[in-house]
Amino acid sequence: MIEPLHLGLIGWPLGHSLSPQLHAAALHGCSLRGEYRLYPIPPAPEENGAIQELLLKVRRGDLHGLNVTIPHKQAVIPLLDELTPVAQAVGAVNTIYFRDGRLVGDNTDAPGFLADLERWLASIRQATLPADQEQQLPFSYALVLGAGGAARAVVYALAQSDWQVYLAARRLEEAGDLAISVQRSTFSDQQSSIEDQQSKILVLPLESASLASLLDKLNSTPLLIVNTTPAGMVPNVESSPWPAEVSLPRNTAVYDLVYNPPETTLVRTARTAGLPATTGLGMLIEQAALSFECWTGLSAPREAMWQAAGRMSNG
Ligand code: NAP
Repeated sequence: MIEPLHLGLIGWPLGHSLSPQLHAAALHGCSLRGEYRLYPIPPAPEENGAIQELLLKVRRGDLHGLNVTIPHKQAVIPLLDELTPVAQAVGAVNTIYFRDGRLVGDNTDAPGFLADLERWLASIRQATLPADQEQQLPFSYALVLGAGGAARAVVYALAQSDWQVYLAARRLEEAGDLAISVQRSTFSDQQSSIEDQQSKILVLPLESASLASLLDKLNSTPLLIVNTTPAGMVPNVESSPWPAEVSLPRNTAVYDLVYNPPETTLVRTARTAGLPATTGLGMLIEQAALSFECWTGLSAPREAMWQAAGRMSNG
């Protein structure tokens, strides 16, 4: 492998990004020399040139890998030579590398979310649970809150793993479009009937009456609630995507993609009710680890990356 490695992140704003710390820990843990730089590029169309310049550096081998975050995850797609099947299905790129003469866009958010979710669910299973709660595992029903970019990765990952997904959003049209596009990419190569496909992702409004009615219908079926909205994120730490007037049911686990603050209002509400809950710090670390593995071909030192993140979450 060529050293030193030059890696970086394109996005805006990038002031609070943890990625440099995570990748510095990964490089150090693998005894590699290198750097991970932030490239703050605002969303204005005239800044496309700045992104193209960075991509040219990847083609030339001056840069060995890039991450992409909001607001450029979709905008970079036309500038690349090919997408991996996951990036294609999710419709967003967060990892770029040059391979076999082609500039490739990948997406590690979806597998990163799934890997961390499985790690976390396994840790819940291993924890000492009262006998009456043991039957609540495993989960196979998920209620996803929000239908933006992160939701695409989450819903795709869950659908691929055969979860029954309920997708709740303020704008039903956005949720409907997401459900259709994920269903197309998930089931296009599978032998499943139209009825099966349609029932795997169901959309509903993100408001009290609809959520209460869904919970009523599920009748204590174990349910994973995944927040993919930015509600509760710094600086709006008091806000929550979950309506205060709807109680979280007993057999529920909560996964909040927001990881700043270390305990969101939603996570605190769930924990106060005695429910397992975690933030998305583990997803952040896992997607970074998978990007690092794409660029280096080495196994990422996850423990060192967790330490670098300061164990901001106890999930
Ligand atoms: P996005 O594309 O802007 O989508 C946000 C979605 O949330 C939209 O559906 C939006 O609905 C909805 N929403 C916003 N505020 C809401 C509120 N107060 N109540 C209900 N719905 C609300 O953003 P994104 O890229 O998906 O990112 C969402 C969050 O996930 C961010 O906090 C981001 O930091 C986090 N994230 C974490 C990781 C990780 O590794 N842990 C990875 C990716 C993203 P409207 O269209 O109605 O506004």
